[in-house]
Amino acid sequence: MNECCGVVAVASRNKVAENIYIALMALQHRGQEAAGMAIFNKKIENFKGLGLVDEAFKRINLQEINGNVGIGHVYYSIKISSPENAQPTLLQTPVGEIAIAHNGIITNWKKLKEELMEEGHSFLYGNEEEVVGYLLAKYLEDKSIEKAVKSLMKKIEGSYSFTLMLNDRVFGLRDPLGIKPLCLGEIENGYIIASESVAIDALGGKFIRDVMPGELIEITPDGYKSYKLVNEKHKAHCFFEYVYFARADSVIDGIDVYKTRERLGEILAEEHPVDADYVVPIPDSGRAHAYGYSKASGIPLAEGLMKNRYIARTFILPTQQIREKLVQMKLNPVKSIINGKKIVLVDDSIVRGTTIKKIIALLRRHGAKEVHVRIGSPPIIAPCYFGIDMTTREQLIASNKTIEEIRKEINADSLGYISIDGLIKAIGIEKNNLCLGCVTGEYPVKIEGEKYRFQERLEKWQEGK
Ligand code: SF4
Repeated sequence: MNECCGVVAVASRNKVAENIYIALMALQHRGQEAAGMAIFNKKIENFKGLGLVDEAFKRINLQEINGNVGIGHVYYSIKISSPENAQPTLLQTPVGEIAIAHNGIITNWKKLKEELMEEGHSFLYGNEEEVVGYLLAKYLEDKSIEKAVKSLMKKIEGSYSFTLMLNDRVFGLRDPLGIKPLCLGEIENGYIIASESVAIDALGGKFIRDVMPGELIEITPDGYKSYKLVNEKHKAHCFFEYVYFARADSVIDGIDVYKTRERLGEILAEEHPVDADYVVPIPDSGRAHAYGYSKASGIPLAEGLMKNRYIARTFILPTQQIREKLVQMKLNPVKSIINGKKIVLVDDSIVRGTTIKKIIALLRRHGAKEVHVRIGSPPIIAPCYFGIDMTTREQLIASNKTIEEIRKEINADSLGYISIDGLIKAIGIEKNNLCLGCVTGEYPVKIEGEKYRFQERLEKWQEGK
């Protein structure tokens, strides 16, 4: 399972390219397929490349890039084949240059694109960021930035944390439901907006606060200005940020991610106790959950699976035969911990079930007496439409199988998922302020053919009532 993207914006009295690079490195877990940065130096210059941040910028001498404001982006998309498709997306418009970096999905972008085409617009990239950019440019022709962005927000639906540049001005914008994270910080000689607080930490900066859902913030080297454009009563923070996507050392919407994962493990132990010799995390995603499970159950924690960190990602492995062996290449059991022992195997989630099945088979081959699987999220029964790569029900083992059927399929001795109530309790945000779409099948944004959780105030606002 992969997050769509990470975004950053920096305004500083110093040159910003190196700061953006460091911030993107800290956000690397949010996207590994491409990276880019757009920097204003008399005009906006865009630098983009495929791969991890260091690969993407390997031919660029950051010290030679002048410019005191800029934005950056790390990208996840299995479809990306050329740096051109990476972000930021840079547009030349009648109101000047606009650069956009986006984390999320605009669910109605195709309809909006058709409307723009009917008005005579043609598209260079044809992607949702280009649609957003042209709409913004259209509204900016006779409005201030805050009014233009407000008009834009009335048009677009879905999830979005943007960093934006309008010529030499730089902004962060978070959707009215706050589905994706975005935060604000102060760094030496300037300010930063980033997907996660770890990017601020990486620059030795000071976290100021989260960008509020529905808020536009402009940063300059000397400060920031906030425009609160929408105030929807209920939010819809993606619960998976806390369970898996965000880095464990981040703090999102005031909640410490590591502590949340530990609490998830503690609640899992209360909801699904079992008699075992060791609690073993699947590295790295299950580590904090396993620690919590061990703490609450009194069963010792042991690193029974070692990870080879130098294995390339699945899709670039040369043959099917090698791809098949990927789990074995990535994870190796510590025989002295596994052999003859009853194991509680802990992870954050099960999507297709193929990986956990292979890990259980691996543990059994190395002598595990029993393998009890405990999962720190409820069963994923429905797709995500907001930027996570689980887009169809066919991909999801829990969409058409009971928990008992899944247990049999993966060959576990027992299987326990955390309950939705347990999840909510662990995060500490009330249910109406979380997106739980993929575990309840009810979404906070209208999706054709899916159940909708009515967002009354937002609808009225969008309709101009
Ligand atoms: S559907 Fe699931 S993964 Fe997607 S935003 Fe909502 S909670 Fe997050």
